[in-house]
Amino acid sequence: MLSIRGLVKVYPGPVAALQGVDLDVPVGMFGLLGPNGAGKSTLMRILAGLLEPTSGSVRFDGKDVLADPAAVRRTLGYLPQDFGFYPHLSGEQMLRHLLVLKGVTSPRGLKALTGDLLERVNLAFAAKRSVKSYSGGMRQRLGIAQAIAGDPRLVIVDEPTAGLDPEERLRFYHLLTELAEQRTVLLSTHIVEDVAVLCPRFAVIRGGRLVALTTPRAARAALQRRIFEGVVSPADMPELRATRAVTQTLLVEGRHRVRLYEPEGRAPAGFEAVEPSLEDAYLVLMRLGELPGAELIDATAPAEAGASRLDAHTPETLGARP
Ligand code: ADP
Ligand code: MG
Repeated sequence: MLSIRGLVKVYPGPVAALQGVDLDVPVGMFGLLGPNGAGKSTLMRILAGLLEPTSGSVRFDGKDVLADPAAVRRTLGYLPQDFGFYPHLSGEQMLRHLLVLKGVTSPRGLKALTGDLLERVNLAFAAKRSVKSYSGGMRQRLGIAQAIAGDPRLVIVDEPTAGLDPEERLRFYHLLTELAEQRTVLLSTHIVEDVAVLCPRFAVIRGGRLVALTTPRAARAALQRRIFEGVVSPADMPELRATRAVTQTLLVEGRHRVRLYEPEGRAPAGFEAVEPSLEDAYLVLMRLGELPGAELIDATAPAEAGASRLDAHTPETLGARP
């Protein structure tokens, strides 16, 4: 379990990037969802031992992460948002180089380990190809290969799906899901779909504060009978936007199909209630800073039925790290 308490980060400026974050992240996949500038990368770099917080504490499985950042860096997996590549190297050479930097060794030797890892992320076929020729998805998979070297119990991935096309994203989803079966995987993203597909639990961060800690189902349920859809002409849009919480507009045959949030649950004329989406919940959160009706859930409690594979695993059932 990763336990974050009272985490504050003020950059020179001053920029208050994190304004007191408290969060418990259990084994499995956990999403950190928020827009650009919300503080996601700042949080992840602190967790990875690469950035010192202004105040607060971070513990992983009881160990103080901030006391010995170098030890943490060796024992966790981290895929930064801006993962650098040496384009002239082959995938195999690049990974080997990263393993050396990370200080990962294997009784069977680095070559065998590199091969195993490439196999694991489905890149064995491209081991000899230069990284320059890799697609975005292949690069991210190589990034995951170095992150999981040494079999870390905690893997942190910062916006790994940004810039992937739909097919690559789907492939990457499968890889992440496999990883999360045995470890804590903390995934940051600004893409709501990532959370909807992957995360039995997630937190939403805005302006350096967590504004929700919930499950996709609970977030949608909080908006039941409060999301309405209707079609309006472009001329009506400005007034609608000024007076209502619009969560989505789609142009359809020259008219706007609009979704909006009505806190009192009263449909505007010509609108009808629709099933809330996670996107609706996210947009309401961004606008209001809270999701009325969604109680903060205890992230350590068992997940909702059918929502996750977490139920089958506890740190105890997974055994100790080698
Ligand atoms: P996110 O990853 O969610 O986009 P970041 O953690 O990168 O957010 O940034 C959070 C805030 O901190 C932003 O306002 C950003 O401009 C600011 N920030 C990030 N890094 C620095 C830095 N090194 N110095 C000053 N401000 C920074
Ligand atoms: Mg970022």
